[in-house]
Amino acid sequence: KRTSPGQEEFHQATEEVLHSLEPLFEKYPIYKENKILDRLVEPERQILFRVAWVDDSGEIQVNKGYRIEFSSTLGPYKGGLRFHPSVNTGIIKFLGFEQIFKNALTGLQIGGGKGGSDFDPKGKSDREIMKFCQAFMSELYRHIGATTDVPAGDIGVGGREIGYMFGMYKKLTNRYDGTFTGKSLKWGGSLARTEATGYGCVYFAKNMLEAKGETLKDKRCVVSGSGNVAIYTIEKLYHMGALPIACSDSAGMILDEEGIDLNLLKDLKENQRARLSEYVKYRKNAKYTPVTEYPKGRNAIWSIPCYAAFPSATQNELNLEDAKELLKNGCKCVSEGANMPSTNEAVDYFVEQKIAYGPGKAANAGGVATSQLEMAQNASMVSWTFEEVDAKLEQIMRNIFESVSTTAAEFGQPTNFVLGANIAGFRRVADAMIEQGIV
Ligand code: NAP
Repeated sequence: KRTSPGQEEFHQATEEVLHSLEPLFEKYPIYKENKILDRLVEPERQILFRVAWVDDSGEIQVNKGYRIEFSSTLGPYKGGLRFHPSVNTGIIKFLGFEQIFKNALTGLQIGGGKGGSDFDPKGKSDREIMKFCQAFMSELYRHIGATTDVPAGDIGVGGREIGYMFGMYKKLTNRYDGTFTGKSLKWGGSLARTEATGYGCVYFAKNMLEAKGETLKDKRCVVSGSGNVAIYTIEKLYHMGALPIACSDSAGMILDEEGIDLNLLKDLKENQRARLSEYVKYRKNAKYTPVTEYPKGRNAIWSIPCYAAFPSATQNELNLEDAKELLKNGCKCVSEGANMPSTNEAVDYFVEQKIAYGPGKAANAGGVATSQLEMAQNASMVSWTFEEVDAKLEQIMRNIFESVSTTAAEFGQPTNFVLGANIAGFRRVADAMIEQGIV
């Protein structure tokens, strides 16, 4: 806190990890002796840059650009780019820090990084989005590469933005390689990458529930957000025979007791780029509640009675009061599609209550794992079928669950997947750091 003042989200993420690692440090002093955590909280490299561009009215706009290369111990820096007005150093650092352990949990050779900008894509024309992406890349291109740093999407960065950034990267470097993941299927993307984070999050929930002899079939589910992760969480929930009944965006939420109309949701969000409030124009029985009507300090979506909840919007969208309300109404499972969506108090409560709680760094690791599968396909110049990629994703999520749950059991807390995920992820990076020496 002394050396990174004001970076609240980063402190929150590091405190959660530090707390979980205490039993490991007690049992194995080697990690403290090697100052692994002291080294890991300091990014290997932080790139902060100006992004100047001209909007449609001819006015000059200036934004901040970030790429924080946290750890290359296990492979090239890997992690998404976020475009959202709330982006600052503390947010990119929390995301990059979590990414190290998440990527380690996948068992693949990928290091951790994250980047983005405080640019707000909302209300911008397609041309403005392109201009911004090109200006952003005119600096970032010199820091990234297929074997050094491989960015992907995150909030506000989807297939369209990756396309504009890759186009500029290719022009500036004269290279056509797998430096980005989340690319279009027409020019180097992987089948099932778009679906992977949401699908993986539901696979993780399925694994947690199977271990308790339960399933998602016929269960009411609530999913926050209505972006990439939320949409494909809803799709996989339908595949599992569950009933997703609610989702949200930053302006409000919808409750559709008959089940979310997925085709309508995709059309509104992926094609029309419309607000969620439009949904009720087409589905008369659904109810829209704007954020202005939420109880003070609360996210109303967590008051809807459900069996399983999938926070898939953003950080700190679920606090202790929300957590209590969820469990009071019968919720038995929380699987996090978003990064750090639950406050540390809410996390502690889920763990204490011994529900099936999958922390983001384990439950949403399917996205980055499939990005690595995209890198593998690009490097070997082959393409796998949707079924092949999806089967690998399902297997990776099962492996992550097994690693997390056996590690939790090893430390005497078999239902504490926060502890299991943090220790399992940390140990893989830490052991590699020790072998690679002090650098
Ligand atoms: P996205 O497609 O841009 O969708 C984000 C959704 O969350 C939108 O519905 C958005 O509503 C809502 N949202 C964003 N900021 C919000 C805020 N401050 N308050 C309330 N709602 C907010 O992004 P995404 O890729 O689905 O990412 C969602 C979460 O998953 C993030 O935490 C991200 O880090 C995490 N994640 C993503 C991936 C991936 O592969 N994409 C992988 C791992 C983790 P508006 O449209 O109204 O802003």
